[in-house]
Order: sequence, then C-alpha cells, then structure tokens
Amino acid sequence: NPDLTAAKVDAYLTSKILHPQIGGDPSLGRGQARADEAGMPQIAVSAMQGQSLTVLAKAMKAERVLEVGTLAGYSTSFLSKGLPPHGQIDTLELSPLHAKIAQQNFLDSDLFPFPRIHVGPALDTLRKMRQPEEGGYDLVFIDADKERILEYFLEALRLTREGGVVLVDNAVRRGRIALEVNDEPSVDVTGLRKLYDWVEQDAGKNVLMSTIQTVGAKWWE
Ligand code: SAM
Repeated sequence: NPDLTAAKVDAYLTSKILHPQIGGDPSLGRGQARADEAGMPQIAVSAMQGQSLTVLAKAMKAERVLEVGTLAGYSTSFLSKGLPPHGQIDTLELSPLHAKIAQQNFLDSDLFPFPRIHVGPALDTLRKMRQPEEGGYDLVFIDADKERILEYFLEALRLTREGGVVLVDNAVRRGRIALEVNDEPSVDVTGLRKLYDWVEQDAGKNVLMSTIQTVGAKWWE
C-alpha cells in the first residue's frame, strides 16, 4: 500500500501514546522552535524515539545517565524524565551555541534532575571523567560525531556500572553498514564499522550487543 509510510504509522502512534508530560510536553515544541531560530540542524531523535529513552531509563530504574551529543537537549529531556529526582544526568556537547540553547530549554522544561552540560570535544571530556561517586552510569546514550563512535563507546564502558546499558544511535547508517563499497560517502560508516569489529573481537567477553533497525518519522536508522 503506497499510502502506508513509516511516517504515517509514526504519526498515528504519536497521536495515541505520547505521554502528556513526556513526549507531549509543550516545552519540547518551544525548545525545537528555539533551536530552529538559532539555525541549528534538525537532527534530534523523533518524539517516539525520545519516549523510548524515557521508557528504557525507567525500566532499568536508572539513576545516573550520560549523553554524548546534546544538540538542543531534546533527547536529554526524555532521559531526565526517566530518572528519579535525586538522579544525575551529564550531557556532552562541542558547540557553545548548542549548549546555550539546550540550557535555555532545560530551564523552560523545569527538568529534575537538571542536566549538567559539559562543553567541549566529548572525547577530551570523557577522558577526564570518572565514574560518579555513587557508582558507574546506568545508561549512556551516544549520539554525536559518527567517526568516533568506538572511542566514545570504550569510554562509556569504563564509566558504566557492570550490567549498565550503552545505547548507540545511528547504528546502521542508512543501511550502508551492510555494503562492501559505501555508495553514499557523506554517510560515514567507518566509525561504526570499528565498533562492530571491536564487538566481534570481544566475542561476548565484555559486551552483549544487539542492533535494532528502526523506522519512523525520521525514516530508518
Ligand atoms: N542527542 C540529540 C537529540 O536527539 O536531541 C542530538 C545530537 S546531534 C545528532 C549531535 C550533536 O553532537 C550536535 O549537537 C553536535 O554539535 C555534537 N557534536 C559533534 N561532534 C562533537 C564532539 N566531538 N564532541 C561533542 N559533541 C559533538
């Protein structure tokens, strides 16, 4: 059925199951408008993907979350809403402009726990970070520059508690990960390939990994 697109299904689902205070929180729309006005790229997760982050954090009873790649703080908001008020959320961002807009958005959304933004190249920040005193991070969300996915992943493993979860966005790269010769060079697959090579070498010693191909308003990724 040519009318049946992933975006249409996503629109149906979001009309039904976005939680009024989470994916349906009106401050999210204001935040996206602020990001658009500042000329920021529209590359945040979708509302449904965002709400999946909240569900996962809640299901895990996560208390400490780390995010690599803040943008305007859209996904950060969903993660914060999955945590108890005494939780902790750290988010890493290269661009001072993005960090500034994200900070405004966090204030507007009245988030609790309030996210701490660390501005600068994420790898430098990560290398200086230690596990939180209360214990390692429960959940890490990696969604920044795609060339350094493996480096971020290895730092995330160091900072995560045993049994914690590291989520990597963009894990199929428009399917190009499966092509021997990438026919879309603007879509970097080298960073992701290094991650899959690492997991192959690890052979289940440290990491149990699964990749989900998703479809939705942001097409499939
Ligand atoms: N997680 C966000 C969301 O869904 O709302 C989207 C993040 S966006 C895909 C990627 C972000 O990573 C951008 O804001 C970009 O400035 C940031 N970024 C790119 N390279 C970075 C680096 N080396 N260190 C930290 N952040 C970086």
